[in-house]
Amino acid sequence: MLIRPADLDGAAWDMDDKARDACGIVGIYGIKEAAQLAVLGLHALQHRGQESAGIVSCNAGNLYSHRGMGLVSNVFGQGEAQKLPGNFAIGHVRYSTAGGSNIVNAQPLLALYSGGEIALAHNGNLAGGDSLRRKLLEQGALLQTGSDSEFFLHLLAQQQATAEEQIAGVLEQAGAAFSILILTDKRMIAARDPWGFRPLALGRLGDGFVAASESCAFDQMGATFEREIDPGEMLTFTPGGYRSTFFGKRGARKRNCLLELIYFARPDSFVFGRFPHIFRRQSGHILAREHPAEADMVVAIPDSGFSAAMGYAEELNMTMDRGIIRNHYIGRSFIAPGQAARATAVRMKHNVVREVVKGKRLALIDDSLIRGTTTAALGKELRDAGATEVHLRIACPPTRHPCLYGVDFPHYTELMAYRHSIDEIKSTLNMDSLGYLSIEGIAGILGEDGADYCTACWTGEYLAGP
Ligand code: SF4
Repeated sequence: MLIRPADLDGAAWDMDDKARDACGIVGIYGIKEAAQLAVLGLHALQHRGQESAGIVSCNAGNLYSHRGMGLVSNVFGQGEAQKLPGNFAIGHVRYSTAGGSNIVNAQPLLALYSGGEIALAHNGNLAGGDSLRRKLLEQGALLQTGSDSEFFLHLLAQQQATAEEQIAGVLEQAGAAFSILILTDKRMIAARDPWGFRPLALGRLGDGFVAASESCAFDQMGATFEREIDPGEMLTFTPGGYRSTFFGKRGARKRNCLLELIYFARPDSFVFGRFPHIFRRQSGHILAREHPAEADMVVAIPDSGFSAAMGYAEELNMTMDRGIIRNHYIGRSFIAPGQAARATAVRMKHNVVREVVKGKRLALIDDSLIRGTTTAALGKELRDAGATEVHLRIACPPTRHPCLYGVDFPHYTELMAYRHSIDEIKSTLNMDSLGYLSIEGIAGILGEDGADYCTACWTGEYLAGP
């Protein structure tokens, strides 16, 4: 079933020109100075959200919270985590997909209900969020945030859900998509929606447990990876260990977000049973077979294009060099109206290495192409620096549809591949040639697991309902 969200005007221009993930979450159970450990985990998950960060800890039956706008180092750079006592904590980094970018929407959310204090950290977007919001308002709910994460709190409060089965019932009602951590004075819960859109993994540290969106957080915390939490699985942590229960329709078709493998997840993480770096490198190999370029050198658009570019160069036995250097210190996004300001913004973020590209025919590799603004500007920079030809290769299919499940995409009107044919994109970006990895090529890498992935932003095949 094809669902198309209404087209809206998008005024902002994102210098990264990438789809952006909604959030990263981390949970600590039964480990001393849990909040300080959570800070380490959030640092590792910073790529999943840079707008706000927060931690709620639990000590002697009380919950303590600190949230703020900005990077983890801004929010927790002055010893704030030391003021959050206890051996239990959940943390969150956010990039807004539903609800604006302000402190009210920063997580973990903290509320009081019949079961006592409750804190919640959510990664994902509820596809049925608008109708759920209307329903709650009609029922007299006072919503305080613009984020659909708050709906979980209302559903839990309305149903006075305190027992594990009741909480599982609320999660079942919520639909897709979520990976979630819940902290009360009695327990910590970690759960994934029945389709498993967003990742969530379980790790161990000493006698305690940790949970995180990606395993790279465990490395940072000194914890060991135990396993991924299954779709539709809810883990309830107890002093002796954890209990696993399942909710939702058993046997629902899995929908792991393929863009996590292509772009979002850190290359050194382990998500959906795979290493993103290896997957991306393989995608470069297939891309090279599908679209070999008559070029002298492979250049990646850093950093996201590196792994695929390595595979592309290996497959064609070509030289790969650093023709573009990325400045990591000016923040991730930048809103710059006007063509001149945008060109300046691109130069602030990426600098072309003239001596490398001069007189060369380049195969330019990136993992995805969304609006095309940055790519167009980079193509011009490369030519201005003396590149004689630029052949663009994209390690995923044309992105033609927005995401309903927790990834911030431009609307249809801004998606270059929705508005233009591949030939038109090639001309608009002033490339000598353009090739996208095919969906069949990706299926070949995934093998039997291919059916377990969501591909809606390329195929338009969304879940039929929330
Ligand atoms: S629509 Fe795209 S970004 Fe969204 S969950 Fe599916 S694969 Fe991921």
